[in-house]
This record gives sequence, structure tokens and C-alpha cells, in this order.
Amino acid sequence: MKFAIFTKIDKDVSDVEKLVKEACTKYGLSLDNDNPDFVFVLGGDGTFLRAVHHYLDKNEQVKFIGIRCGTLGFFYQFEVGDIEKAVELVAKNNYFDESHRLIECKLGNQTIYSVNEIRFENPFHTLVCNVKLDGRELETFHGNGLLVCSELGSTAYNKSVGGAVISHNLDLLQLTEISTIQNNIYRSLGSSIVLKSETKITFSGDFSNVVIGYDHLTCQPDGAKEIEVTGSNKKIHIVYSKDYSSINNLKRSFIK
Ligand code: NAP
Ligand code: MN
Repeated sequence: MKFAIFTKIDKDVSDVEKLVKEACTKYGLSLDNDNPDFVFVLGGDGTFLRAVHHYLDKNEQVKFIGIRCGTLGFFYQFEVGDIEKAVELVAKNNYFDESHRLIECKLGNQTIYSVNEIRFENPFHTLVCNVKLDGRELETFHGNGLLVCSELGSTAYNKSVGGAVISHNLDLLQLTEISTIQNNIYRSLGSSIVLKSETKITFSGDFSNVVIGYDHLTCQPDGAKEIEVTGSNKKIHIVYSKDYSSINNLKRSFIK
């Protein structure tokens, strides 16, 4: 079995890295950063997102295991004190493989993937945008922007703009408005809508002043007049212990 280590960029975690390497050696795992079966992610959610994008073309082979090193780390079950336990789960094949669909977004001739969400906002003018679900018109949106998140991303930007938190054992998309205008001239749904992950969400409009963000990344609309978003067939795999529940993480991260 081969493992890789992916570390936080803005904090020195070399002491944690050393502990992971020692435990992996003890349990007979060999280091291979290019072609790993397991990737130990040392950091928080931002580091997790970067790790997924780094290994995007190996998504079916690679499983991610987070070791939380400071920061929020909502995706993380294991702390630095749990390294030996985490490595043992992997070595003894005694873990729960939680898989999640990525979000797939086509704009012009580029296709991008995201874990948390795809979001687009016009910071200069009101964004006017037509929204279709599976080819049927829903609304013409007026406001700052819109985002489509996965169950994993429901606790990120989506939560900050009033979207619902979604349980990690559901496979779906959530469309959420960002600073929508609701008056007697402009009207859109005005709340988040939760959709089957296969739903094709099509946004059309003038995206020339729009900033597109996905996870920690950004891209340009490059003249595209349409943004198409759906749940991807590409999935990521996260390693948890068999008794893990994301409810513990919800409580630790947001309540107490
Ligand atoms: P960041 O600015 O460090 O992230 C903002 C915060 O969101 C961090 O505390 C991060 O945790 C946390 N986070 C990321 N994904 C999460 C998730 N799925 N559930 C709960 N919390 C989550 O930037 P980053 O670390 O590169 O993360 C990129 C993400 O930031 C984007 O995908 C977007 O969702 C989010 N974001 C949020 C806002 C907002 O809420 N107003 C604005 C822009 C972007 P860590 O501290 O552990 O990294
Ligand atoms: Mn961060």
C-alpha cells in the first residue's frame, strides 16, 4: 500500500509529517507522492480542497485521510493524537470509505470540478441571470450572485449566505442565492432549493464582469454566455472510522 502526505502551505507541520511517516513505516506503507492509494492531508479544509484538486485525475484510486492541524477542519475526524489509530485503520483495511460526487461545471469549452461549490458573483453591477433546471425555466435572478454547492460544501460559503446544512449521507446539489433583489419588479425564488445531483442547472446571461470561484480557485468566464452545472460521475473518497458521524463535526465546528 502506498501513501502520500499533503500539507498545509501557511503553517509548518513538519513535526506532524514526521509522526505520520513513522506510523506508516511501522505499518508497512511505502511513500509514493505521485501514485498513492492513501493521501494523509495535514491541515484544515482549505488544505483538503487543495489536496483533492492536486490528485483530481486519480480520484478513483486515491482515498483522503485528514489529520487536523489547527484551523476549522470540518472534514476531519482525526487529530494529531489519532495518527497511529488512523494509520492502523488504513493498514488493516478497517475503515469506512465515504464517497462524494464532485460538482461538474461547463463554461465555454472548459470543464471544472469542485468539492464545495461553484459560485459566481458580479461585484460591479446587478447580475441578471436566467436559471433553468433540466431545461425548464425557473426564474430570472437579479442580485449579487448564485452558488451551487454539494452536501460537503453546504457548511462553507452556502451556510454564510443562509443555505441549509445538508447531511453528508445525502447525494445532492443545493442552489443558493447571494444577496438577491426581491421587489415588485424583480422576483426570484428567494430561498435555497435542494435538487437531485443529476439535475442540470443552466445559468445564462452576461457574465463579462462576473467572478467565478470554485473551492479555493477562481476562473474567468472568457466570453461564455452559459454556465452549466451538474453532479459529476467523478467522486472523491474520504477515510473515516466505521463509527464516525459528521454530526460530531457539526457540533465541534459550529456549536461548541
Ligand atoms: P478560507 O478563506 O480559509 O475558508 C474560509 C473558511 O471556510 C475556513 O475556516 C475553512 O476551514 C472553512 N471551510 C472550507 N470548506 C468548508 C466546508 N466544506 N465546511 C465548513 N467549513 C469549510 O479559504 P479555503 O480554506 O481555501 O476554503 C475555500 C472555501 O472558502 C470556498 O470553497 C468557500 O466555500 C469558502 N468561502 C467562504 C466565504 C464566506 O463564508 N463568506 C467566502 C468565500 C469563500 P479551514 O480553516 O479549516 O480551512
Ligand atoms: Mn482555510
